[in-house]
Amino acid sequence: MTSMNPAQLRVLELLRKPRDPLSPVREDLGVSLLAELEDALAGSVAHLGGERMHVNKHLLASVHTCERFTLGTRDGFTWSARTARGSVAHKAVQLGVNWRGEPRAPDLVDEALGRLVDGDDSLAGYLAGMSEADRAELRSEAVNMVNAFHECFPPLQASWKPSTETAVRVDAFGGLLRLHGRIDLALGGPTGLVPGKVLIDLKTGVSAAQHRDDLRFYALLETIRLGVPPRLVATCYLDSGRVDCEKVNESVLDASLARTVDGVRKLTEIQHAVRAATVSTGPACGWCPLRPDCSEGRAWITEREGRS
Ligand code: SF4
Repeated sequence: MTSMNPAQLRVLELLRKPRDPLSPVREDLGVSLLAELEDALAGSVAHLGGERMHVNKHLLASVHTCERFTLGTRDGFTWSARTARGSVAHKAVQLGVNWRGEPRAPDLVDEALGRLVDGDDSLAGYLAGMSEADRAELRSEAVNMVNAFHECFPPLQASWKPSTETAVRVDAFGGLLRLHGRIDLALGGPTGLVPGKVLIDLKTGVSAAQHRDDLRFYALLETIRLGVPPRLVATCYLDSGRVDCEKVNESVLDASLARTVDGVRKLTEIQHAVRAATVSTGPACGWCPLRPDCSEGRAWITEREGRS
């Protein structure tokens, strides 16, 4: 433990179990959260006309940012070296947990690439068909992420029960509405009704308020799934070594439930033409692909440039 650098020691301290044991949560917590979700969204799912709806953290963040953007880009996701690097790096981190000897990031990433390309999902298809240049870029970015992780995260101990890229899913209304996600890294687990798990998102780049909302969403799904919430959620910024932690309590879960209900309501309304999508200008206009056809977004950018 003493061979850890200050950044690793800081992370270890932040994630450490509290000295005083946590209290057990009420037995019906997960069930009651799901019941509240279904009560609040009963009217909204009627708009689906029997069509299934899948919602993840990206879709929620998008609809809370700008509804027009959400509607205009809903079929627009494509894999690229940039969008694939997280999945490759997380797989490499996962392999590193049980790697014999000192794990080297390039070896872990090569092994991760080799395994992911054998999958049966869209990422496997992208990896199988990408150009040599894209492969080089992806490998380089994933290696950087894994190196940054090893530099600022304490070495993962098997006793912490680490798991990476863990799928989490809640089916409401008999599967008509699916809320789902994939947790970058989870450590520990509950003991009976006593929370014990830590959910961690690994990020490159700068912090944003949305990152905390993403993790709160995962805490909500985990609580409905298991009946026990995680004890802590944490965003680990690999570039700066900073970790943003939040203890999970019922207020946090209630806030996440309200945001989720609001987001699903908006999505059902705009995707099923109950009403027109609203427009919300802001920093997202800076990179929005719809901006050439969006007068409000162009005007916002022009005004911002005039101010600077
Ligand atoms: S340019 Fe801005 S306001 Fe227009 S759709 Fe994009 S995010 Fe929304």
